[in-house]
Amino acid sequence: MRPNSLLGQNFLISDFVLDSIEKNVLSLNKNSIENVVEIGGGFGFLTNKLLNLFSKVLVIEKDPILYEGLKKIKYTSFDNKMDVFLEDALDIYKKSYLEKKINDYFNNQKYCFVANIPYSITSRLIRNLLELEYKPDFLVFMVQKEVAERICAKPGSMSLLSVSCQFYADCEILFYVDKNSFYPEPKIDSAVLYLKPKKLPSIDINNFFRVSKIGFSSRRKKLIHNLSSGFLKDKVYFKEIFSKMGLDENVRAQNLSIEDWIELCYNIYV
Ligand code: SAH
Repeated sequence: MRPNSLLGQNFLISDFVLDSIEKNVLSLNKNSIENVVEIGGGFGFLTNKLLNLFSKVLVIEKDPILYEGLKKIKYTSFDNKMDVFLEDALDIYKKSYLEKKINDYFNNQKYCFVANIPYSITSRLIRNLLELEYKPDFLVFMVQKEVAERICAKPGSMSLLSVSCQFYADCEILFYVDKNSFYPEPKIDSAVLYLKPKKLPSIDINNFFRVSKIGFSSRRKKLIHNLSSGFLKDKVYFKEIFSKMGLDENVRAQNLSIEDWIELCYNIYV
C-alpha cells in the first residue's frame, strides 16, 4: 500500500514515541476513563497501545483499505473490546449522527480521544471535538509542532486558534517528536498535545467568538480599530471599555488572554 498524503498518512514507527504516548496517557487518565476514541487508526500501531490501556477502543478511519486491516485486528483478537467505523472524523461534531454513534458505543460513559491525527484537518477537527455536547474527559493528540505551539500560545502571540482552543480547554505540550519517527517522513517535527476541557464561563459562545473573530480580523491593526470597524461603533465606546478593563488603547488582539476576551465580551454585550 502506498501512503496517501491527502489523508495525512504519516505512520508513527518509533516504539519509543509510542511507549511515551502510552505512559503519558496512563498518567493523565486520572479519572480512570475506560473508553477511548482513536482517529485515523492507520496500521493500528497506536491502537495496540490503546488496547493495553482501555476497556473499549473505538477507531475511526476514513481509508477503506486501512479500515479492513483494523477490522482484522478486531476480529482476530479484540472483538469484545474494539470497534472500527469507516467514517470521516470531521463528521464528528455537535449533534451529528457520528457524535451519537460514539455516545451509543460507550453507553454514554466517560471517554477520551487519543490520536496521531491527520495533519490536514488538525484545527477543524480539534475545534469540532472541543465543541461536542458529549464532552471527552481529555484529548491527547499528535499534531505538527507549529500548530501545537500556536494552540498553546500565551498572551503576546495569541491567535484565533489559541483563543478558540483555550476557551474550551487547558492546553499543554507534553513532548516533541522528531520527524524521523514517521514513515513517510513529513517535512516538519511534531508535538504531543494534552487538552483538558474546562468549565465554560456563563456567556453566549456565539458572542464570544464574534468578538474574538472581529478582534483578530486584521492582524496588523490595533484591536480598537478592528472592534470599531467590525461593530460599526465609535472608538470612544471601546476606549471606555478598555480603560474600565485596564487595557492599553494601543493593545493588539494577540496580547489579550482568554480572561480578557471574556471580560471584553461581557462589556460589549451588557
Ligand atoms: N494512527 C496511525 C496513523 C496516523 S496517519 C499512526 O500513528 O501510525 C493518519 C491516519 O488518519 C491515516 O490512517 C489516515 O487514513 C487517517 N485519516 C485521514 N483523514 C481522516 C479523516 N478525515 N477521518 C478519519 N481518518 C482519517
